[in-house]
Amino acid sequence: MGILKYFKDIFSGLWNLLVGLSVTSKYFLNFKAVTTQQYPEERLPLPARSRSMIKLIYDGEKDQFNCVACLMCAKACPNSCIKLEGVRQADGKRRMTTFKLDFSTCIFCGYCVEACGFDALTFVSEEYENAVYKRGSLLQDEHAMKWVRQAQPIAPEEQKKETVIPAVVGA
Ligand code: SF4
Ligand code: SF4
Repeated sequence: MGILKYFKDIFSGLWNLLVGLSVTSKYFLNFKAVTTQQYPEERLPLPARSRSMIKLIYDGEKDQFNCVACLMCAKACPNSCIKLEGVRQADGKRRMTTFKLDFSTCIFCGYCVEACGFDALTFVSEEYENAVYKRGSLLQDEHAMKWVRQAQPIAPEEQKKETVIPAVVGA
């Protein structure tokens, strides 16, 4: 009985070794499927809805932030990370003048983004290198958080729809 177990253990060990080597060999010989990413030269795009950084949306056409200083984001924030001020302009509309978000206490819960009804706050996926040497650098203002939304490319089908000229009835 003892000698049988002895050889069984040797066979089991060899089998496990072969299984491990077969997995290694598969990746070693498959040169096309390179999985190593040469960061930071290569940067993998994150999913569009990833919560990397919060930004203040700036409307390039109107040359102003979308924020109207309604304070809803500051009230929704469970950690009181947001401080902002605004003024009422001559046209009666409110505009944000200063906006500060302390990312050192932000937990990226997204309540502020959800609370904003003016499309003024958003998460962006492309900025994920948020490490700093000093904690104070995590306090960002409206200039650091300024973000201009990229124009969405129009799909070919949509372009066709837009260029179709309606037929004139009775012509
Ligand atoms: S993500 Fe959450 S914690 Fe961070 S500023 Fe917004 S509401 Fe506050
Ligand atoms: S909720 Fe939106 S519009 Fe209101 S203060 Fe915050 S960012 Fe500005």
